[in-house]
Amino acid sequence: MEIRLTARSAAVPRALAVLALTLLVVAQGAQATAGGTVTLQYFGHAFFLVTSVEGVRVALDPFGDIGYPMPAEVEADLVTVSHEAYDHNNVALIKGTPEILRGLEPGGRGFTRVRHAEKDVRIAALPGYHDKVQGKERGLNAIFLVEASGVRIAHLSDIGDMPPEETLQALGRVDVLLVPVGGGHGLDAADASKVVERLKPAVAIPIHYKTAATARTGLADERPFLEGKPRIGRVGSTVRLERAGLPAKTEIWLMDYR
Ligand SMILES: [Zn+2]
Repeated sequence: MEIRLTARSAAVPRALAVLALTLLVVAQGAQATAGGTVTLQYFGHAFFLVTSVEGVRVALDPFGDIGYPMPAEVEADLVTVSHEAYDHNNVALIKGTPEILRGLEPGGRGFTRVRHAEKDVRIAALPGYHDKVQGKERGLNAIFLVEASGVRIAHLSDIGDMPPEETLQALGRVDVLLVPVGGGHGLDAADASKVVERLKPAVAIPIHYKTAATARTGLADERPFLEGKPRIGRVGSTVRLERAGLPAKTEIWLMDYR
């Protein structure tokens, strides 16, 4: 269908028993591939920087002052904004002359039609909602799909419900799912788990939860989401991703913002 970014179907890598082994494979893949790897850097909350193999830099949902250290030197070519809330739309923080891709129309009244292609990066904005009634209570929340060098990264911002069927179809294969787990306006642990189970990404990275930096927010921390889940690893603030090195069974990577 039109909003699918690619029809690519890559071979599924063999199951790997433990996270440490997978990370090792990813690292070895980075050395073995002349083309390099995609990097994903986390700053906390819902704010990431994706850098593709060809060097295209995409900043996702830069935050305002919500308690996290404000990175002074994040430069990007593109900035995505899932919705116009101060913890998601601080585009002035990003250096360079980035193109701003906003997921919502002014006033949050509708979804924009973002379909952007640049070198080895494809970006689409897809419908999502802050609540379970199509945004009627808490508004719309665009879901950005960033395909960088073949790695499909879905940013769920702080959606409050399972993405609508049309969005699930458009997402197709998700390699890396950035999923809110802290409740509040976003998915709580139980609903986040359902979204992970439905999309079955290679990697799920919890976002938008309480940390030492945001202790005063009403969000829950990450522990209820992690409870009882297999294959959890702590991976620091930057990870390197390569399509061929991704795990076959969903792993949860807990990123550090420092
Ligand atoms: Zn938020």
